[in-house]
Amino acid sequence: MEERSKILQCPFCGEVPTVPVEIDTPFGSTVDGGNCPCGAVYVYDRTGRMLGEAFSDALALAYEWNYDAAFAAAEGSYEEGVVRFNKRARKFMTGEGDPRDRSARFYFILRKKAD
Ligand SMILES: [Zn+2]
Repeated sequence: MEERSKILQCPFCGEVPTVPVEIDTPFGSTVDGGNCPCGAVYVYDRTGRMLGEAFSDALALAYEWNYDAAFAAAEGSYEEGVVRFNKRARKFMTGEGDPRDRSARFYFILRKKAD
């Protein structure tokens, strides 16, 4: 189900995450991202063009930039969620949306706690 909101909310817990800041990666690049009190992290793709790349960055961020661990992570050991900002409506919407839609996107990853 699609939800619309005027503020950015975490797709997992509904809390308001930190505003995006520049985060240095160990590889000399930076990403824009932030985190949520529930433990979720996100990467902000202001262009809406990065798609898989932004998702990979978010996953790597959730795994402290350990790409091997991130990509070896079993399906089901984390949750993913996308929020996009519709400029015209000035609203945040959950869900990936149409890939041709160049809305800014927030790729959220929440690692599930080990039992
Ligand atoms: Zn949250």
